[in-house]
Amino acid sequence: MKKNDFYLIGGIILFIAIGFLLMLLFRTEGSKVLITIDGKEHKIFNLNEDTTYEILHDGNRNVLEIKDGYVSMIEASCPDKLCVKHRRIHYDNESITCLPNRVVLRVIGGEDSELDAIAQ
Ligand SMILES: [Zn+2]
Repeated sequence: MKKNDFYLIGGIILFIAIGFLLMLLFRTEGSKVLITIDGKEHKIFNLNEDTTYEILHDGNRNVLEIKDGYVSMIEASCPDKLCVKHRRIHYDNESITCLPNRVVLRVIGGEDSELDAIAQ
């Protein structure tokens, strides 16, 4: 009996670990951030590659940072700095908008859509 319990618990742990790994793989492969300026596609980054990127446009400046699968705006030349104050984003279709500079960061192919697809 005791030995069987061990196998059962071990099996469950293994199952969870594999499921977690698969989710991690899905997320890191699927998640990207799309940068648009004036509504036009500018650049796409993978969220699994840590980087910082400077967007220069019409004398405006925004700096985004990708770290640990999240993207955030770390610097901006806009007066309101709402984009810098915005929490870092990570889920599908989340976005950070810098209205004064007309720059939008949007997460595409992120976690949420995959979970939804499974649920449907
Ligand atoms: Zn801004």
